[in-house]
Amino acid sequence: MMTDRSESGGEDRRQSTPLPMRTPEMSGLQLCPVCHGKMRQTAEICPHCGAEKHFGATLWEMVRFVLGGLALGVLFTVVTRAGWAVGAIAIAACVVIAFIIGQGRHGHRWMKRS
Ligand SMILES: [Zn+2]
Repeated sequence: MMTDRSESGGEDRRQSTPLPMRTPEMSGLQLCPVCHGKMRQTAEICPHCGAEKHFGATLWEMVRFVLGGLALGVLFTVVTRAGWAVGAIAIAACVVIAFIIGQGRHGHRWMKRS
C-alpha cells in the first residue's frame, strides 16, 4: 500500500542541478552542431551557416555500403563455392543487409553545406 511513493513524481526535484557547460535546450530552440548558432528545433536548415539536417546515409555512403555487401556476397560465394544461383541469393542478401546497416548507422545529423 505504501510501497514506492518516492519513485513517482520526484522528477522536478532535480532540476536545480546545473548542467556542465551545455546550454540547456530552451523551449523550441536547439543549437546548430556546426556553428553553434541558435535556431528553432523544427528547423531543417540552419539560418546561420546553412547546415542541413540530413536523414540517413548520404548517397556515397550508401554506395560504399552496398558495394561492401556486394563484395561480401561475392566472397561468400567464392569461399563456399556455392553455385551462382545460391551465390546470387547470398549477394542479394548481403546487399540488402548492408543497405539496412548503412541506413541504420546514420540517424539524422547535420551536415555542412559545401
Ligand atoms: Zn549553423
